[in-house]
Amino acid sequence: MSVNNSLYCYGIERFGTEEQKQKFLVPVASGEAIGAYSLTEPMSGSDAATMRSRAAQDGDVYLLNGRKSWVSSAPMADFFIVFMLTAPEKGHKGVTAFLVDPKEVGFSLGKTEPKLGIRASATSEILFEDYRCPLANRLGEEGDGFKIAMAVLDAGRIGIAAQSLGIAEAAYEASLEFAREREAFGKKIGQFQGIAFKIADMKTRIEASRLLTYQAALAKQRAKGTGERYTLEASMAKLFASETAMFCAHAAVQIHAGMGYSKELPVERYFRDAKITEIYEGTSEIQRLVISRNELGLR
Ligand SMILES: Cc1cc2nc3c(=O)[nH]c(=O)nc-3n(C[C@H](O)[C@H](O)[C@H](O)COP(=O)(O)OP(=O)(O)OC[C@H]3O[C@@H](n4cnc5c(N)ncnc54)[C@H](O)[C@@H]3O)c2cc1C
Repeated sequence: MSVNNSLYCYGIERFGTEEQKQKFLVPVASGEAIGAYSLTEPMSGSDAATMRSRAAQDGDVYLLNGRKSWVSSAPMADFFIVFMLTAPEKGHKGVTAFLVDPKEVGFSLGKTEPKLGIRASATSEILFEDYRCPLANRLGEEGDGFKIAMAVLDAGRIGIAAQSLGIAEAAYEASLEFAREREAFGKKIGQFQGIAFKIADMKTRIEASRLLTYQAALAKQRAKGTGERYTLEASMAKLFASETAMFCAHAAVQIHAGMGYSKELPVERYFRDAKITEIYEGTSEIQRLVISRNELGLR
């Protein structure tokens, strides 16, 4: 849902032509089709500008070649936004975005990743071999790709903060109920300070995450139509909420102990699902880089 709405739909809504919106946005926004976003490659993740996939103009098409990895929803996506180099010598200024229909010749799916968590979401490689992408399906101008990719991630990170908050709250609510009911040494376990303080820390971090997420959403809403960035707010929300999700899921397994480790309860799934929020759409290290560079005035 997050990739479909934020990384795919928002990118086309903001940067697409009217013709592109009719073809690539309307079916996805109306729920008839699924969109995916493909920036990452096997040798290029956090440092996205080091991608190797190439797009070269050939008459009225671009020929796309390369291997992209870790594409959420790839096996069932109807359309993709794909980032490739059109001018490798220009580094990140040589990246261009394309709208891709996987039914066309030259597109194929690679391996599907066997994942620790979020296993209801399929993630796979996608391969391009002389894929003919019409010039009309270039999103933005040549060389705009990196700017588009980053602007879209600003928005996406607020979605991941909200996802993190949901996981954290589910872990918290399960823990609260368990701490009220489970007994040991003749007491409810919530009466032990070691458990009670976990509850206090979970609740406090959840509420702080919620406020950071709302602050980022508000900054995005205020920026609409102005072209202003809300990178800092989005990064802070994503960083804090994702680490809160991991903190709460970890505490929830500990509070549930044996039952927290069992697949009979959803707590072990929260633990596995929480981890991804610290990794995709920019790892926690990358969020710290974004925030500190912003504060120190570094580029
Ligand atoms: C389940 C899943 C779904 C995904 N879905 C998508 C998708 O739909 N589309 C897409 O394009 N990508 C997707 N990704 C890719 C994801 O965005 C990358 O995995 C992520 O950006 C990190 O890149 P990497 O795995 O190559 O790690 P690397 O960049 O190789 O990083 C390895 C480690 O080094 C650290 N590191 C790197 N650079 C620095 C630095 N400058 N300072 C400090 N530490 C640093 C990282 O934080 C990390 O801890 C997905 C990944 C997963 C796991």
